[in-house]
Amino acid sequence: MGDRVVAFHHIPCGECYFCRHKTFAQCATYKKVGCTAGFEPSGGGFAEYVRVMDWIVEKGTVRIPEGVSFEQACFVEPVNTCIKGIETLRLQAGETVLVIGQGPIGLILATLAQRAGVRVITSDLHPARLTIANSFGLKLTVDASKADAGQTVRGMTEGRGADAVILAVGGTGLIRPAIDATRPGGRVLLFAQTVRGEVTIDPAAVCVDEKALLGSYSASVDLQEESVRFVMNREMDLERLISHRFPLQSGVEALNLAAHPQPDSMKIVIQPGSAGAPSTRVLA
Ligand SMILES: [Zn+2]
Repeated sequence: MGDRVVAFHHIPCGECYFCRHKTFAQCATYKKVGCTAGFEPSGGGFAEYVRVMDWIVEKGTVRIPEGVSFEQACFVEPVNTCIKGIETLRLQAGETVLVIGQGPIGLILATLAQRAGVRVITSDLHPARLTIANSFGLKLTVDASKADAGQTVRGMTEGRGADAVILAVGGTGLIRPAIDATRPGGRVLLFAQTVRGEVTIDPAAVCVDEKALLGSYSASVDLQEESVRFVMNREMDLERLISHRFPLQSGVEALNLAAHPQPDSMKIVIQPGSAGAPSTRVLA
């Protein structure tokens, strides 16, 4: 049996204006999907065999050590994006961070924040997800179906609010509550706002209250080694975030579930090599 590897689907050119300014996710080469079931980049990846483009082979393949499963290893890219988000916030030890949303990405972000030495509070509408957060060592949780996360956080910070708030839920509905939960001079990270649109924001929250509105998207090649270490050393049992597994022929079903997350759905994996029926697993 040959080496087992993880292939990044995006790798920047390293030379353009954006790469020189370390905003790799804005590089034109980076935006091309470098693993493809077709003959061109972005030809799709749901296939038993994919072509890995030359620039990915060169800088975007990571050997999987003995004893680490494909399912653990495939988190190298999502973990990288989360480390990048955490770095954007420049957390200081002792700060309080609220992570809104405890889907798989919210959970990884919360775990990484905790590892950075801050006090982490997580919130979610689904109590089942908070139970999972608990099982990952995230003990301070707010059931957002019953309590206001901002109010709870203010109660825990002498009325100030969180030093940083990470919004790990898509859409625009929680942007205002995220800003409100942040202390004056604090930071708000939009991590799941991938759809263009418009939103009403109190400009004085940014100017007078000096709250910084930040964003982070996709991965950074500069953080590749750190994310590989975190994943391959099993600093977090990431496999446990996988709730559903689908064979390739049920790919549409898998995508539908991913597009409409349920309280009990976390990471959803398509296994092109398997012929079995879809399987689910209880996480908590
Ligand atoms: Zn570039």
